[in-house]
Amino acid sequence: MTRRAFVIGHPIAHSRSPMLHSYWLARHGIDATYERRDVTPPELGDFIAEFRAAGFIGCNVTVPHKTAIIAHLDRLDAEAEAIGAVNTLWWEGCQLVGGNTDVPGFLANLDERAPGWDRPGALAVVLGAGGAARAAIVALCQRGVRVGVANRTRAGAAALAKRFGAGVADHAWAELPALLEGADLLVNATSLGMNGQPPLDLDLAPLPAHGVVHDVVYTPLETRLLAAAAARGLRAVDGLGMLLHQAAPAFARWFATTPEVTAELRAMLTRDIQGRVLATTPR
Ligand code: NDP
Repeated sequence: MTRRAFVIGHPIAHSRSPMLHSYWLARHGIDATYERRDVTPPELGDFIAEFRAAGFIGCNVTVPHKTAIIAHLDRLDAEAEAIGAVNTLWWEGCQLVGGNTDVPGFLANLDERAPGWDRPGALAVVLGAGGAARAAIVALCQRGVRVGVANRTRAGAAALAKRFGAGVADHAWAELPALLEGADLLVNATSLGMNGQPPLDLDLAPLPAHGVVHDVVYTPLETRLLAAAAARGLRAVDGLGMLLHQAAPAFARWFATTPEVTAELRAMLTRDIQGRVLATTPR
């Protein structure tokens, strides 16, 4: 029987997950489908009931369900527990498990694009206190990297420092110039720089020459922050790699096959992102 996997969210039309997973299904000759399903918050419980009854193989979860879905699951993996948000569902025996693959996705992207970024004693500066920032911080803590976090709303950064403990300190936005002087990695995990949002205007001059700049935003692919980093000769890592690498462990859970993040797949997604940007840019 054809196995079925889904991505659920509301709205969901923008999701690139079907493109990604369909590519891997075709490449590995797996008899399965990966479908988009628009699920509104009141419909979430019914969807999970249908998922359990039908024995669907797996699911990705996006906004606005990443936290609300926890109440419907049997168990969380360590990353989802730490972050308090789920982006992938899979079965372990008859238990429906929620995990968060943004953590391995974040690490695999940096490992691929900026090898050596996590040298012993490294300090990362994370901007933001939402879901992406929490995934980044959990990932950085797994590698033993110290974290300084700053957020528009200081209380958000302070809450993360409290939640994640000794290796994570919160800072005021005004402290960034001094903080960047000692940073090995800067991560933008705010939505600043995303299409339709204001750009992130930050002077990168204080960063040391070996500093890596990573923007989790991937629409557009080259944000103003990344362009500024490249202009300064710093290693600049875009957010598309994180999107690709968070999908791979989900696919592996469902189909017992670890898919490859190929240059062809990256090029396909790049064309899609650039095409949609052009389509929405006023002439
Ligand atoms: P959230 O809504 O959870 O968090 C948004 C963050 O951005 C908050 O820290 C918020 O600060 C900050 N922010 C928003 N607007 C402004 C502003 N005008 N000035 C300063 N700070 C601002 O979003 P997510 O964490 O889920 O997503 C953030 C970005 O990461 C999005 O662009 C998303 O597409 C991207 N992303 C990329 C992934 C990938 O795979 N590459 C994975 C997940 C997300 P405040 O607390 O003050 O509101």
